[in-house]
Amino acid sequence: MTWNTLTLLRALLLSLLLFLVLSLHGAAQANDIVDASALPRGMLVLTSHLDVLEDPAQQLSIDDVLAAGARFQASGQADEALSFGYTRSAYWLRLDLRNPGAVPLQRMLEISNARLSSITLYTLGADGRYQALHTGSAQPYATRPYHNRYFVFPLELAAHTQQVVYLRIASNGAKLIPARLWSPEAYLAYEGQDYLLQGVYFGMALAMMMFNLVLFATLGDRLYLMYVAFVGCVALGLAGQNGLAHEWLWPGAQGAWPNLSASILFSLSAALLLVFMRSMLGTRTLVPRLDKVLLALLAFFVLSPVAMVVFYTHVARPITTIWSVASPLIMIVSLACAFKRSRSAYYFSGAFFVLLIGNMSSSLAAMALLPHNLLTNHGSQIGSACEMMLLAFALADRVHVMRREKAEAQRAAYEAQSSLIASLQSSERLLEERVAQRTSELNEANARLAELSMTDSLTGIANRRRFDAVLATEWSRAARLERPLAVGLLDIDFFKRYNDHYGHQDGDECLRRVAAEFAAQLQRTGDMVARYGGEEFAFIAPATDADSALTIARRVCEALEALALPHAQAPGGMLTVSIGVAAWTPKAGESAEQLLRAADAALYRAKQLGRNRAELDA
Ligand code: GH3
Ligand code: MG
Ligand code: MG
Repeated sequence: MTWNTLTLLRALLLSLLLFLVLSLHGAAQANDIVDASALPRGMLVLTSHLDVLEDPAQQLSIDDVLAAGARFQASGQADEALSFGYTRSAYWLRLDLRNPGAVPLQRMLEISNARLSSITLYTLGADGRYQALHTGSAQPYATRPYHNRYFVFPLELAAHTQQVVYLRIASNGAKLIPARLWSPEAYLAYEGQDYLLQGVYFGMALAMMMFNLVLFATLGDRLYLMYVAFVGCVALGLAGQNGLAHEWLWPGAQGAWPNLSASILFSLSAALLLVFMRSMLGTRTLVPRLDKVLLALLAFFVLSPVAMVVFYTHVARPITTIWSVASPLIMIVSLACAFKRSRSAYYFSGAFFVLLIGNMSSSLAAMALLPHNLLTNHGSQIGSACEMMLLAFALADRVHVMRREKAEAQRAAYEAQSSLIASLQSSERLLEERVAQRTSELNEANARLAELSMTDSLTGIANRRRFDAVLATEWSRAARLERPLAVGLLDIDFFKRYNDHYGHQDGDECLRRVAAEFAAQLQRTGDMVARYGGEEFAFIAPATDADSALTIARRVCEALEALALPHAQAPGGMLTVSIGVAAWTPKAGESAEQLLRAADAALYRAKQLGRNRAELDA
């Protein structure tokens, strides 16, 4: 046998012994008499002072019970509540009260479980007979002798008397009977505090609902509406369970409804919680398999209210069992989501955990496994309040997360936009730069082209086209300013022979040297020289009269002669030129053509007169 099995056996044996001792101890306490004048702190828990008679067939009358007095047993329970579990028996409780004092005593007998269907109090009347006062959750609220969510019976104990009071309790739920005896003053104080706490809880629930309703209205996220429905349903269910619903919402209700309402509302709460959970955690995509479990539970919680209405007594227990299975399942799914790093799941798990702890402490107290105190008595409510708040935090966090995500997205969009703009701007700049570059290149090329089209390629001086353009301009300027314009035409003497003798290439070189010298001789601003064609050159000299023009032409002839370019086939053995000039102030009706023709005529004359000379148009 292993060590574990041994320990288990020992534990079992001990429990058995403990059970026996407790039973014997209980039996010995029958007929305990309560001194009602001595209530510690104004209240006494009656559990251990009650004698119990079980009535399995629910057939005994007060007379049967009075006759069968000997069969009462001491309750044998020392907790804050008597607990008989789920039985169909009715229970008779006997309480032996004594007032040894000289003054009459007012006392309150409180049964603080709102879900006991039938409670009958039997007190001895003035006529010496027992009188019944019948109330319970299956009776209209008005049947209660004292207005409270629980069942409270005011008792009157005359001086120096002893009175035996009987309570008959029948109910189809779990029979949990918390019985206490109060002094009226202590009870009033307690009652005020109790209602205040309830007010705090329901006020909180209402505030949460309103707040989340506003969130739903502003954000349009259905999750907030689910939360509101869930909290509303839980609050109603709790109100049904703790008697406030019977007191305020349906005081006329009787029969099964007051008890059933809480069960139905809790079932619907569970269904709503599942709907909320699936939506909040996105279980369908996050944990698809576990989501099926949630769906099955959801179906169960939606359908079970129907079953409750039809067969209430038969399903009460299975439903409780499923509840205790459902809770860990929900917890597991939530933890699985949390494990997948779902932020909402952290909150949900925390919230559901506190709810579980609250419910568990209540259930354990109901099963007498935990002591009854303020915490365990209100366990479900405290758990529910904490859960409510944590879920509300989760929802608020959702807003926060949503806002952060939105800001993030906006920032990203803004960044993308500005980088796009920046790249557009830079490419535009690049384009502009390129266009400017191309334009300037084009301009340069154009200028070069224009230059080329105006320049003689052999000699580098202006060509005929340029000469014609300048002549036209200078002609009209001279006409406008009424001053003379001079042109000269230069022709190399015997150049054909030069070519023949020296060859074409030397001829070209000779043309270059003549052009250079010719240009060097006409340096005044406004003067221009050009290759007129072949071995003929021309000059334009603005604001120059005929004499000056002839002087220039002679200077050119002399300068070229001075160059002393050898020309073997010329009469003087040197290269010479002949120039014909013409100059006058343009008159109306005349054209530059005429001036040029006159210069040509002068050139012809120069050739006739022996070459190497300048002649003026006569
Ligand atoms: P002159 O003018 O004295 O009456 O006699 P010429 O021999 O110079 O006669 P003309 O003016 O008619 O001769 C023109 C010659 O110039 C013909 C051609 O051989 C030569 N010539 C014309 N253009 C060029 C050229 O571009 N290069 C060269 N090497 N020779 C050219
Ligand atoms: Mg010629
Ligand atoms: Mg010639």
